[in-house]
Amino acid sequence: MGPVLIVGAGIVGLTLGQALKQKNIPFEIYERDATPEARGQGWAITLHWALEYMLKMLPEETLARIQDVQVDPDVARNDSGNFLFINLETGQPKFKIPPNRRWRVNREKTRRALLHGIEDHVHWGRRVMGLNMPETDRVQLLFDDHSTVTGSLVVGIDGSRSMVRQILRPDAFENVPLGINFTGVAVDFTPEEIRPLKEMDPLLFQGCYPPTGTFFWFSMLETPQVNGTVATKNERYRAQICMSWSERGPEDKVATTDEDRLANMKQRAQGFVPFLQRAVDRIPVGTPVTEIKLADWECLGWDNQGGRVTLAGDAAHAMTMYRGEAANHGLLDAYRLMEAIEQIYNGGAIASVAIDHYEKEMRDRTSHAVRLSRQACRDAHDWGRLDETSAILTKRAIFVK
Ligand SMILES: Cc1cc2nc3c(=O)[nH]c(=O)nc-3n(C[C@H](O)[C@H](O)[C@H](O)COP(=O)(O)OP(=O)(O)OC[C@H]3O[C@@H](n4cnc5c(N)ncnc54)[C@H](O)[C@@H]3O)c2cc1C
Repeated sequence: MGPVLIVGAGIVGLTLGQALKQKNIPFEIYERDATPEARGQGWAITLHWALEYMLKMLPEETLARIQDVQVDPDVARNDSGNFLFINLETGQPKFKIPPNRRWRVNREKTRRALLHGIEDHVHWGRRVMGLNMPETDRVQLLFDDHSTVTGSLVVGIDGSRSMVRQILRPDAFENVPLGINFTGVAVDFTPEEIRPLKEMDPLLFQGCYPPTGTFFWFSMLETPQVNGTVATKNERYRAQICMSWSERGPEDKVATTDEDRLANMKQRAQGFVPFLQRAVDRIPVGTPVTEIKLADWECLGWDNQGGRVTLAGDAAHAMTMYRGEAANHGLLDAYRLMEAIEQIYNGGAIASVAIDHYEKEMRDRTSHAVRLSRQACRDAHDWGRLDETSAILTKRAIFVK
């Protein structure tokens, strides 16, 4: 059989590549970014329930490299996994999500860790533009330079604005916006400045401001130990501060300039408990403010062309990050898809049957997850709706009275 052709070298595409390597199944990965360093610093993500599948898919050395890119190695050693949702007006916890095993990792460094050992199979600067189906058991990728490659199966793992999804569902490929706007910054803190935030939680916490429904999110990106400033005069932490709010009128739209976006964040933080208002107020003017478009896609059906084209990760099911599950679902997709591909390549299953089976499990699981994440996003902006039944907590919450 020809190789599996993976479109996209994000966390899920690289994990599938690693898993196929373990099974001696031929694969190639095509990525539009020019180099592994092409993206910026990115954000941190929590790997939690998917860890058990990662342990089954990845070699020990790769797992060790991922463990090494946890945002705070000190906290990671004794992580209590306590995840907090607070009242931003008072600083009091509303919910505490009970401890569970988690690795809080830097996404871009995780991507680099996942490259190890499969570098020769990852082709950078290759933007896929289309697909051809030349024979019944073959499929071809078409690139922007008009070159092609042929294989037996294409897997579109090309992110939430997937081109492969667009080919499979030209009538309904677009993500559906939630009507909630989100901006965030990465910012440096001295040990003194970050202390009250770290005291709340050393890795991340979230909250809602009851009077307006504004949502706030703190997430550690780098500690002095990781960035090499420990015990120097310039000891610094780097953290992410994000805010989101419902769009009720034109004044709630995201501004076009960094300056105006930052002014909006500072204005929305007025009235927060003083240590949080200070944290937003001291973000320096000139800091780049990134917008993340909150929209989702419910893993609708598509024709997989007799088991020759499928999707995984955000391409198959875009969801908002208010339950922190999207990458975990993508990693489970990679595991299930590895099982299906193994059956096809060892002759144990017909491609169409194995891929249909993979897609059914994924669709059942993730369409529910997309809806839950959408509801969690809405709930996070409405203090009155936040109770122990909220989607932001479902299946993992302790209600703090
Ligand atoms: C702020 C934030 C916090 C998050 N926190 C969490 C969390 O705590 N836990 C969690 O589970 N999830 C979290 N997520 C979600 C998580 O980041 C994503 O689910 C995950 O990164 C998706 O991985 P992926 O490999 O499917 O897609 P991506 O990482 O988007 O990778 C897709 C790749 O495809 C490439 N590509 C696109 N088009 C083409 C093309 N035409 N040709 C070739 N290559 C192409 C892209 O360049 C990219 O490298 C968070 C997301 C955000 C925004």
